[in-house]
Amino acid sequence: MNAGSACLRQIVDFILPYRCAICGSVADGDGRMSYISRRYLEIFGRKSDIHICGKCLAAIEPYAPSDRWHLCLSNPFAGDKIPGQVLYIAMPYKGIVTRMIPAVKFSGMKEIARLLGIVLSEMLRDEKISADIVIPVPLSSERAAQRGFNQAEEIARPVSDVLDLPLVTDCLIRTRNTGRQTETHDIIDRMENVRGAFEVADSWDITGLTVILTDDVATTGFTMHEAALALMEAGAGKVLCVAMAGNRRVKNADPF
Ligand SMILES: [Zn+2]
Repeated sequence: MNAGSACLRQIVDFILPYRCAICGSVADGDGRMSYISRRYLEIFGRKSDIHICGKCLAAIEPYAPSDRWHLCLSNPFAGDKIPGQVLYIAMPYKGIVTRMIPAVKFSGMKEIARLLGIVLSEMLRDEKISADIVIPVPLSSERAAQRGFNQAEEIARPVSDVLDLPLVTDCLIRTRNTGRQTETHDIIDRMENVRGAFEVADSWDITGLTVILTDDVATTGFTMHEAALALMEAGAGKVLCVAMAGNRRVKNADPF
């Protein structure tokens, strides 16, 4: 695109109405960028290719600060090597979020993961969370090739930017394709399915580091638990699991 057509594109963006990627309603492009759109431009260096209307953005309801802290496992078990592992959940998996997250996974809208990641990153900044590095839960290479991006990494990018921490994507490795957790119903099956599925690359020394580990949705928490365990066994000082969304009724852990 030459400079002239880039300029034209900006003018067209400025005046055309747009269709909301979530609810499909047509909103007027009145030229004002929402705060989230502005942050997107700052962090990713370009405007989002999709639009979400103000009504859908306003329908995202984060948990109250006191309701975000949980034990990583929904069903703790005896003999767990990291029994007190903490999980931060930004918002309940309900309402508009149940339309946004599947749109990331199944319609390839990585921009939505980024927009949600911006919301999450500002929540973490307000909580004054400190850490050394940010690591996304990796996808298997098969899944990554299929989808073309890792939603946990798209969520992690604004977190790394806003908290000013390095984003590290080649440290934690998924050693095998575990299939979709949602297709594995029995709790024991789910545990066995992800057990030992992660390892830390030999090229990394994470001894003593505090790690923020990101993922999109936590249900049983097994996947994040296994990823956190691999990091702790490789010498990490502390791991804070951070999920964009999840449904836990009881707040049962203290802030990190
Ligand atoms: Zn909408």
